[in-house]
Amino acid sequence: MPTELMSIPGAAEAVPVPRDTPARADGLTDLVGLPRAAIADLLLEAGLAEPKQAKMRAKQIWGWIYNRGATDFAHMSDLSKPLREGLAHHFVVGRPEVVEAHVSTDGTRKWLLRSAGEEYEMVFIPDADRGTLCVSSQVGCTLNCRFCFTGTMKLVRNLTPSEIVGQVMLARDSLGEWPSQPDGRLLTNIVMMGMGEPLYNFEHVRDALKIVMDGDGLALSKRRITLSTSGVVPMMARAGEEIGVNLAVSLHAVTKDVRDEIVPLNRKYGIEELLQACADYPGANNARRITFEYVMLKDKNDRDEDAHELVRLIKKYRLPAKVNLIPWNPWPGAPFETSDERQVQRFSDIVYQGGISAPIRRPRGRDIMAACGQLKSSSEKISRAELDRRAAEKEAAW
Ligand code: SAH
Ligand code: SF4
Repeated sequence: MPTELMSIPGAAEAVPVPRDTPARADGLTDLVGLPRAAIADLLLEAGLAEPKQAKMRAKQIWGWIYNRGATDFAHMSDLSKPLREGLAHHFVVGRPEVVEAHVSTDGTRKWLLRSAGEEYEMVFIPDADRGTLCVSSQVGCTLNCRFCFTGTMKLVRNLTPSEIVGQVMLARDSLGEWPSQPDGRLLTNIVMMGMGEPLYNFEHVRDALKIVMDGDGLALSKRRITLSTSGVVPMMARAGEEIGVNLAVSLHAVTKDVRDEIVPLNRKYGIEELLQACADYPGANNARRITFEYVMLKDKNDRDEDAHELVRLIKKYRLPAKVNLIPWNPWPGAPFETSDERQVQRFSDIVYQGGISAPIRRPRGRDIMAACGQLKSSSEKISRAELDRRAAEKEAAW
């Protein structure tokens, strides 16, 4: 693999990733993930539309891609035959390749996907009143939270808008949800909580979510999309302004010592700075609360006093907040234990008594390693020394 480092677009500071996505081997351009205006420009460049028609043609193609789920230009019946043939000559409507698909006993589904030679995962979690797709933003993760399986991965590459939107398209394919319908959808919500730190791939995530929210296409409301960050403070305001989706913050600890250890990014952007950025997050209010995710690790962050401190901090910053308590999901070789059920309940009660909602999340898809923090594209066996080496390498980069 080339060792040349390049910066992740949109990051506040350059963060090295091994390399960018290679072009498609067949030389064709994937239309999935491109804004409508870019499709119009490409039609013009390829000589497939007159300047006056390009916008209109792009709109038609957009409808076929995002309302009908068409992947074959030959099916786009309101386009002329020469245009359909011309499109097939230059473009594709792509999908990530499905390498493996698993279904949990609780109905959760996990897909191992591949594109441009690299693998990443997506998860669909059906519930009685909603269906949530958990989407990845990177192959691996720029960060190295100690309790997270993805954080142990060496390889990091930003997923492109095409690969991010492609996950949603593929989920729709698998659920048989074409043509798009406003009511009765299975896939109702999206969480950017798969592999990767979305705010270290800001521009691609933003561009992808804009397509997902576009009213003439997939049309998912920003109220049904949640972006989770482990606390990339300098990008949070932009996320609010330029994407405007719900915010979830992976807090996980209330003291500097513990957060420095389990979410090492805390050494760069500390708890108080992070909470101030939450207070400043555009669009957060009592109707649209910020979610604080708190993974429950036995004897690490789960004491009564941690719960009291959590309430104090949320009140100090006057945050419109709710807390999600996530029982820690195990993975091979992890140096943690899940908190006792009784302690999780006590913790939840204390936060509720402080006037803040703190439901305990039921783990989903653990049997297929699809639960929070269990995603990793290959289960290699890594030594402690190698884990430490990878962590040091990542930390040196940010
Ligand atoms: N990188 C982003 C989003 C992906 S992780 C972030 O960290 O916010 C989604 C959530 O799962 C995060 O809150 C993460 O901290 C949590 N998580 C990671 N590993 C976990 C594990 N093993 N058990 C339970 N939750 C975990
Ligand atoms: Fe990355 Fe999120 Fe895992 Fe931390 S918890 S290593 S930020 S995916």
